[in-house]
Amino acid sequence: MIKLASLSKHFGKTVVLDEIDLTIEKGEIVVIIGPSGTGKSTLLRCINFLEQPTAGTITVGDLTVDVKQASRADILSLRRQTAFVFQNYALFANKTALQNIAERLLVVDKWPKEKAYEKAREILGKIGLAEKADAYPASMSGGQQQRVAIGRAMAAGAEVILFDEPTSSLDPEWVEEVLGLMKQLAAERQTMLVVTHEMSFARDVADRVIFVDGGHIVEQGPPSDIFQNPKDPRTKDFLKKIIATSEAAL
Ligand code: ADP
Ligand code: MG
Repeated sequence: MIKLASLSKHFGKTVVLDEIDLTIEKGEIVVIIGPSGTGKSTLLRCINFLEQPTAGTITVGDLTVDVKQASRADILSLRRQTAFVFQNYALFANKTALQNIAERLLVVDKWPKEKAYEKAREILGKIGLAEKADAYPASMSGGQQQRVAIGRAMAAGAEVILFDEPTSSLDPEWVEEVLGLMKQLAAERQTMLVVTHEMSFARDVADRVIFVDGGHIVEQGPPSDIFQNPKDPRTKDFLKKIIATSEAAL
């Protein structure tokens, strides 16, 4: 379970997140949508202190942290309980697929080497890349690299995986294999918080869709409600634009 209470983030005088309250149950798949520059990435990044939040509390599993008083140990614990998938994969270029997955287990989770590599091999099998164990990122397709990045996030068995537009920088031909892996995870009820513009993923996979704008949660609900019967004019306006864009792309 994750709970954000009155979570705020200010950059100087700019209020990017304004007292966000959000609870995500274990096993829940939550998709965040909203216009560009509205704080979606910042929200994810605050949960594991990639950004220092300004105020509020963060609960992940058994741990509740008041962000103003977070100790180093608190931040490390939050990072152990969360895993992050970035838009641009963020793999180590000088490490193989196997090493990239093992790295987090060794460095963040402090696993012994043998156990970490055994787990990394198991994960490579699970993500369908067993034969790429010794391949370096530069020799893999964008889709394969992002699957390795997701494998790295899966490996530690974190409470929640945070995805920040995981398919946005992929060539169109690689999008489906990455969404397919995410669907596999969702079917296993891995708790996931996903920022994406892939409306079909949101519609088919999410338990809940959250529309954010201007640092606030404007509206949230099951995908059928948000997509077919949005209430707030800002949600309606955003969905119209997104649908127009994706139709133009067809
Ligand atoms: P989104 O992911 O929804 O596109 P972001 O969370 O990246 O939005 O950014 C939200 C706002 O915060 C934007 O106006 C952006 O310019 C601002 N912002 C993000 N990171 C920083 C930073 N390190 N310093 C100052 N402003 C930032
Ligand atoms: Mg973003």
